[in-house]
Amino acid sequence: MSDAHESPTCPRCGAPQKPGYALCPFCRAAYSEQAARHAIPCKKCGELSAWGQSRCVRCREWIVVQCLFCNNVSPHTVSGCLACGEAFQGMQARKAARDAEVSRQRTLQTVGAWGPVGASFLGSVAGAYLGSGGHHHHEHHDWQDDGATGSYDAGGDDGGSVFESVSDAFSSSDGGGWFD
Ligand SMILES: [Zn+2]
Ligand SMILES: [Zn+2]
Ligand SMILES: [Zn+2]
Repeated sequence: MSDAHESPTCPRCGAPQKPGYALCPFCRAAYSEQAARHAIPCKKCGELSAWGQSRCVRCREWIVVQCLFCNNVSPHTVSGCLACGEAFQGMQARKAARDAEVSRQRTLQTVGAWGPVGASFLGSVAGAYLGSGGHHHHEHHDWQDDGATGSYDAGGDDGGSVFESVSDAFSSSDGGGWFD
């Protein structure tokens, strides 16, 4: 293949091929069928740029899209990132959603050790602090046992009686007269 180092020329008019162009800028002939097929049309001026260009050969408009996920660029004519396969359609929303999910999980991880424990023993923590002067930072094994039983018992009794009186009121009014 000795023509590799000869500078390529337009197959129609013989002008030297301009790098970045898919079509000859003089006669508008495609340099090759492959070049034409992979050419990237400019959204602004319509010029076709050769595959691999990132800006329009004529007006320098961007003709590539940067992937929000992997930061690689792909021609705007393809439907998804050539590097990682993420579809460009709705990419911004998906990226935002994923970011939100990531930061949510990060929050869960940092809170993880404390969150569930803190939540279920919230009442007893308050009680324990009141009871013994707030020294419990260093011995939180204690208030898990102490507190839980105490506060849960009280809560259970209270709830029961309220519920009974509500259902009483309900049954009496039910028979009362709505259906007569
Ligand atoms: Zn030409
Ligand atoms: Zn252009
Ligand atoms: Zn990507």
